[in-house]
Amino acid sequence: MYPRVIIDSQKYRHNVVQMKTLLETQGVELIPVTKGFCAWPELVGVIEQEGIERVADSRLENFEAMGETKLKKLMLRLPMLSQIERLVRHTDLCLVSERVAIEAIDAEALKQDKDYDMILMIDLGDLREGLLEEQVDAFFQELKPLQRAHLSGIGVNLTCFGGVIPEVETLNRLLAIRAHIQSTYGYTLDVVSGGNSSSVYLAMQHKLPQGVNMLRIGETLALGTESSYGEVLPGYHTDVFTLEAELIEVRRKPSKPWGLIGMDAFGEVPNHEDLGPMLRGILAIGRQDVSFEKLKPRQDIQLLGSSSDHLIVDLHEGAYKVGDILQFDVSYGSMLQLMTSPYVKKETI
Ligand SMILES: *Cc1c(COP(=O)(O)O)cnc(C)c1O
Repeated sequence: MYPRVIIDSQKYRHNVVQMKTLLETQGVELIPVTKGFCAWPELVGVIEQEGIERVADSRLENFEAMGETKLKKLMLRLPMLSQIERLVRHTDLCLVSERVAIEAIDAEALKQDKDYDMILMIDLGDLREGLLEEQVDAFFQELKPLQRAHLSGIGVNLTCFGGVIPEVETLNRLLAIRAHIQSTYGYTLDVVSGGNSSSVYLAMQHKLPQGVNMLRIGETLALGTESSYGEVLPGYHTDVFTLEAELIEVRRKPSKPWGLIGMDAFGEVPNHEDLGPMLRGILAIGRQDVSFEKLKPRQDIQLLGSSSDHLIVDLHEGAYKVGDILQFDVSYGSMLQLMTSPYVKKETI
């Protein structure tokens, strides 16, 4: 059944073990992030089998689907006030930046008779979640004493919106803010969560400042790449995920459309270059499954464009026939789309 994604759980295991070992020697806890593959059960199983204690995701649905597991659950996305009951019931800790959410979590934890941990996010330039440094004092001056929800860490997220790369100084800022909060407001912030796969290059160079003791890592484990510079990490598998799609037409055709040209299926006016006749293929996969721009074919072919259900390719005169299966590497964005699409079959090996 095609299109399908083949998920190699042994290659994922290898990446998890490599990263866990690298971070352990630096006193840093690896928190695998599962949101990019919708917490695919076999990969969550690998995480659990490798002796990891905590897993992170950004969707409560993914945590709820994990069911019985020893893993403690870290919710990455800031809480929705409308979901506090489910959040406290199904997870053990979360990232926070808003006082109103913290107070709602505390009230709910009291109600559920449960202790709950929270990591306070600081925005160090990427402009997604977190308090600005100059907002920290006002935040703590207004925060009421908490009963069952505990601010037990501080964290930062980078290279998601603003593309800001974590540097040694960036993480030293985080440590300085933590020291200030601890000495001024009496909180003990044991956890210092130093970012995501964009902090991996610092770990590889053993440059994470002393005191950073957690990284939340999705991409590197799934794709073998770090996300500050897009480098492939030596010794990591880049083919945990393989996309396969089936050829449904193989024909020699011109490369330039003819007739009166209007819009394509997505409202754009196409402008196709005339490269002469070529052997063209159509694959049974389309934009409803994945944005083709992010796919890397493993065969020598070129992706020309796609509509909702078709991907048109230049087969570079290769010996292909209808029914052949072509393979692709996936990127972070395409993994996310493919794993989310109900039309794409998934198979774990
Ligand atoms: C998604 C996410 C991560 C993991 O990011 P990767 O680049 O996949 O490692 C870490 N932290 C937060 C807050 C996230 O939203």
